[in-house]
This record gives sequence, structure tokens and C-alpha cells, in this order.
Amino acid sequence: MASAPPTHIPASTTLPLDAAAAAAAWKPDSWRAKPIKQSPAYPDEVKLRRSVAELGRMPPLVHPSEIDALRAHLRDVAEGKAFLLQGGDCAELFDYCQQEAIESKIKLLLQMSVVLIWGTNKRVVRIGRMAGQYAKPRSSPTEIVNGREIPSFRGDILNGYHEDEREIDPNRLLKAYHHSAATLNFIRSAIASGIADLRHPFDWGLGHVRDPVLKEKYSEIARSIQQTLRFLHVINARPDELETVDIFTSHEGLLLEYEEALTRHLPKPVSHSPGNSRIATPLTRSPRLGSVADPSAASAPKTHDYYDTSAHFLWIGDRTRQLDHAHVEFFRGVANPVGVKVGPSTPAADLLSLLRALNPRREPGKVTLITRYGAARVAELLPLHVRAVEGSEYKGCVVWQCDPMHGNTLSTGTGIKTRRFNDIYRELQESLRIHREQGSVLGGVHLELTGDAVTECLGGSEGLDEDDLSTNYTSFCDPRLNEKQALELAFLIADHFSK
Ligand code: PEP
Ligand code: MN
Repeated sequence: MASAPPTHIPASTTLPLDAAAAAAAWKPDSWRAKPIKQSPAYPDEVKLRRSVAELGRMPPLVHPSEIDALRAHLRDVAEGKAFLLQGGDCAELFDYCQQEAIESKIKLLLQMSVVLIWGTNKRVVRIGRMAGQYAKPRSSPTEIVNGREIPSFRGDILNGYHEDEREIDPNRLLKAYHHSAATLNFIRSAIASGIADLRHPFDWGLGHVRDPVLKEKYSEIARSIQQTLRFLHVINARPDELETVDIFTSHEGLLLEYEEALTRHLPKPVSHSPGNSRIATPLTRSPRLGSVADPSAASAPKTHDYYDTSAHFLWIGDRTRQLDHAHVEFFRGVANPVGVKVGPSTPAADLLSLLRALNPRREPGKVTLITRYGAARVAELLPLHVRAVEGSEYKGCVVWQCDPMHGNTLSTGTGIKTRRFNDIYRELQESLRIHREQGSVLGGVHLELTGDAVTECLGGSEGLDEDDLSTNYTSFCDPRLNEKQALELAFLIADHFSK
């Protein structure tokens, strides 16, 4: 399946001298010499050093062959051959490390991907915001709770949500590792045991959809998918996409002490498959990583690379993407595919500098630009960003992913943080339209969702209003789509692509 090298990849496989020198200077701890945002003040340095040393002795959470397999999948996404679905909680809590909570999220991602495969006619790459999404950036270091000013909740990896647990505790870094390991272990075993067999019938349960026109439209899509699945079952067909399911993991790479401790200099896998784990497609099924289209492989092949083994995919948040700061420094050195949040405060010129720093070899799919402007500003800002990148030497190299959540957060009159389903959908629809007009590809979506019946976002086909928010609002950070709203969004995307 080796593909011809894209024309925009230059024939030369050597790096410019300054990039080569910068790459040589990178070390897992070189970020420590840079200014840093959102960095916690640890109260106990000795405890921190002990935790980090222990993390450094722990086995990797994910294998380099899985990370490289995801790189190959994301190359396909960048080239418009696959669609990326990424979703999960805003802040994952240690408490969510339970069978039902994990299973319902996996099932929702799988159900959404069946709809997306049907609508886009592309393979779907699934990445959970799971098994490590424990660190949260905050706009203020303190907040007022019950009349007292206390430190803000920074995510379970640093402190607890309960007001008596707000002091930063370095032992939590180890707890984060163990909860990630337990979550990942259950995902792997659930997939190995057949949770992912997409040929099994789903309960599409569209009873909640109020609008008869919408209901008919969804029912038609669901009927068509079910017929196809039944047909495949009858003829005993085993298309790859239904038989083998990959779910990769991701989190915001915010806490660099943690990421550094889990970054290892490991042999680059050549054709090794990760045992009988089915969480990721074995590298042997992705031969293009070693093809001539990958300049790093075509030149003197490196035998080792630095892999951040805390997750397959890491992203840099909107608050920590400063070019000369610690987070960009750290992530420019790891072999993992990385994301960068891009918003209204991102100058178009910064995008190219970011790409040059994070992807000097111009490997397609290595960097995902996760755009989050808000429904009101996407039409003004996205075209500028698309033109800056697609008009440069990075044409065709990035994965454009729409995060329609983070630019659309609002507070109700009574101070509840929420998002309107309509705004979320409008930003997504505008992004699809703009990419089509600009000749670029919207490669995927990045969503905050949960498999539970929460009432955190307004609207959707159930018509949730402000009075409904208190029924089941359980997020400790941003409001998430519930299973119905999330599936509805998948139907809407499918509908766009099938036209
Ligand atoms: C998030 O993804 O939860 C987040 C904080 O996003 P952003 O960095 O885009 O604000
Ligand atoms: Mn969030």
C-alpha cells in the first residue's frame, strides 16, 4: 500500500542547519530552561523529586509501535483519506476509573464512528481524551468557594476538587500514572473481548428526538447503517474497519514534570506488532511509515527516538503554546503526533513558526491544529489561518481538527457554565464549509463528551433548557455533550459528507 510521495515534500531529506542544530540541543529536560505558563508551585520539592524518580522507573503506558501506528493513521487524515474522532471528558477524574464509565465512553465513540464511516466513506481514527486527561489549565490560580478564597482545582493529578484537598500533592503524579494504567488496561481488555465488534446491532434509541423531520432523517441514516451491517453479517464479510478497532489515548500535555518522567529513548519499531494488544493497529499494517514519503525514514534511519509514553497523542493547550516557552520546547523533541490548540488569540504568523518548531521535517499528520474560535468568529479567523498554512511549505501537512466546544462556553444568569448545542453545531458546520471553500480538508473533530445522560449543554434534539441543567450536571470543569447530543453531532457530520 506504499503511496507516492506528495509533491509538496521537497526532494532533499536533510534538515536546514539551524533546525538540525536546534534538534541536537533538545533533551527531555531542556524545557526547564524556558519560561513556562500554568506551572504549579509544588509545596514539597523532596516529595516531587521522589514521585518523579518513581515515575521514571515505571514501565511505559503505551508502546512506541502504537505511537508510530497512530502517526501513520494521522498521515492518512492529513491526506484526506481518514477522519479523526477525538473525544472525552474535559477533566477526567480518578473516580471515572470505573467499568461503566469507561465502557459507556468507548461504546459512544464506537457508535459515533459507525455513523461517521457511513457518512464520510472514510476510515475513522478514534482517540479518547482518556487514561490521563487529569491536568487542567486555569484562568485564575484561586477561586472563592463558600466565601473563602482557595486555590483553584488544577485537575486530579495535582489537587482534589473538594475544598479541603486544594493543596498540591506530588504523590498525585503517581496516582495519575496508576489510574491511567488501570483505565488503559480495561480499554485494552474490553476491546480484546469484543466490545468493539461493530457488527453487533446497536440500540440507536432515537426516541428522544423531538423534531419529526430530524427524527425521520436520523432514522433513515440509522436504518441504512443497520441494513449494511446485517448484510455484512449475512455474507460473513470481515472488513478491517469492523473487525479491528483502534482506540488511541490522549491528554493535554500540561504537566511537564510528568511528561518528562515518562519520556523514554526507545528503539524505533520497524515491523514489530504490539503482541496481542488490539488497542492499536499493528505497525505492520501501516507500511507507509517507512516509505519514501517520510523523509526521516528515507535518510539515515534513526534507530532510537524519544517517545512520550504517557499517551499516544498529546496536545498543547491554548494557554501554553507560546513559541519560546517550555511546552513547545518539550513537544518539539518527542516522536508522538502532537496537537496545538488554535484560537482567536493565535496570530497567523505564529502558526508557521509553531509548525517549523514542531514538525521541521514536514511529516504529514505529525501536527494537528485544533481550531476553537467560537461560532461567532470562525468565519472571520479560520480562512486566515488556513491560507497562512496552506499557502506555505506546510501545504497538506497538517491535520485540521475542529474543536467546537472551547470557543462557545458561556455562563447562565445563575452562573452555570454551559454551551449551546446550536453554537457547537454552527462552528462545526462553518468549519466544514470554509475548508471546502479553501480547498483544505477538515480532518476531524475534537469534542468534550461523556457516555452518560448528563445535562450540561443546552439544546440538542431533546431541547434541554436552563431549568434542565440542574437535573444531572456532574462535570467538574467544562460542560460536556451527553450521549444523545454527541451521537446527534455525528449524524449531522455524516449528513454533510454524504451530500
Ligand atoms: C481543553 O481542551 O479542555 C482546554 C482547556 O482547551 P483550550 O486549551 O482550547 O482552552
Ligand atoms: Mn475543556
